[in-house]
Amino acid sequence: MTGNQNTDFFDFSRNLSGEERSIRDTVRRYVEQSFRPVVRKHFADGTFPTELIPELGAMGLLGSSVHGPGCPGLSSTVYGLICQELERGDSGLRSFASVQGSLVMWPIAAYGSEEQKSKWLPELAAGHKIGCFGLTEADHGSDPGGMETRAVRDGDGWVLNGSKLWITNANMSDVAVVWARCDDGVVGFLVERGTPGFSTNTIHGKYSLRASDTGELVFDDVRLPESSRLPDAKGLKAPLACLNQARYGIAWGAVGAAEDCYETALKYAGERTQFGKPIAGFQLVQQKLVTMLTEIVKAQGLCLQLGRLKDDGINEVPLVSLTKRNNVAMALDCARTARDILGAAGITDEFSPGRHMANLESVYTYEGTHDIHTLIVGAEITGLPAYR
Ligand SMILES: Cc1cc2nc3c(=O)[nH]c(=O)nc-3n(C[C@H](O)[C@H](O)[C@H](O)COP(=O)(O)OP(=O)(O)OC[C@H]3O[C@@H](n4cnc5c(N)ncnc54)[C@H](O)[C@@H]3O)c2cc1C
Repeated sequence: MTGNQNTDFFDFSRNLSGEERSIRDTVRRYVEQSFRPVVRKHFADGTFPTELIPELGAMGLLGSSVHGPGCPGLSSTVYGLICQELERGDSGLRSFASVQGSLVMWPIAAYGSEEQKSKWLPELAAGHKIGCFGLTEADHGSDPGGMETRAVRDGDGWVLNGSKLWITNANMSDVAVVWARCDDGVVGFLVERGTPGFSTNTIHGKYSLRASDTGELVFDDVRLPESSRLPDAKGLKAPLACLNQARYGIAWGAVGAAEDCYETALKYAGERTQFGKPIAGFQLVQQKLVTMLTEIVKAQGLCLQLGRLKDDGINEVPLVSLTKRNNVAMALDCARTARDILGAAGITDEFSPGRHMANLESVYTYEGTHDIHTLIVGAEITGLPAYR
């Protein structure tokens, strides 16, 4: 095909610095060379390519915008671009980096003691240690304030009882950031693997995010010293602030998945011949491609503005919610349309859109469902919370 196949159709790249473009392109090459060749097998097997984790660390892709010992300390815009490129590969790869960076390293940097920061941050940034984040419970998803996991004071320390479900990296993790209710409200702990009474289980049978470890954390009379508590995490707003960091990265990541779907569909449409010409030459197929590109370009613009605002210190929850809500729904629509353009071939794992489509169903639900983000923005613009 001779057309303009540049997915950066409005040249948003011109608004990126040379360093930002260079990091984006480096990550894109890495994902193409090291991740894409293995993702099909990992998705089929339901495994994560753990051998890549130290490479992600060495490239500064873990907790890239976190500030602390051993952390890359890059801008939020760069963090967004990294998420975009990782999710071009697979939502599972971006999920790994989101959890490690935004949900484990970020709370340690924001709420941890100096001892916790120096013990964990360099190891997590390097990918030598893996973390997970336990907030959701079987009976408390969208409303984590109802959590039943309890932390009770016991002499100088604490005793933890309860469980967390749907936890990314649960079974691979060396340390879990765990949120529990105590007499004074919600508190956070760092629970190390091997602590007596702490165990993890794998969730089997997923059709989405298969190249990602999802599991359960179980706490059965787990005794924790006071030094394992995150001293500056006070109340439910502490875990919700972590989620806001992660949702920001997801908003960018979804664009990467959508771009990969669009590019795959555009290429296929140029090569696939029916009724004597490439299907890209039919008006209906062009309409689908144009709709995909239009929505992707709008989402790219939203992300860039959101990133610049965040780098200026503006990290408004409703802005992140609006962008996550729009971009994930957009990416899911793109994945379905790309699958359609690929015809029967679209239902096999030879092509990425079917995998992205299945993955994005999880992304639509986690880190605040699509509906919950509607309610966050709705409350912002009307002043009337409609959660209950
Ligand atoms: C693959 C995967 C990985 C995950 N990783 C993690 C992790 O690492 N750590 C973690 O803590 N959690 C994790 N989660 C959990 C995720 O955050 C929850 O699934 C999410 O918060 C939704 O909770 P739920 O699944 O219980 O759905 P529910 O809260 O039961 O929602 C079900 C439906 O009801 C709707 N609904 C709920 N309340 C309202 C309301 N007030 N008004 C209108 N509609 C409403 C929802 O929008 C949704 O459509 C993960 C989930 C998945 C699928």
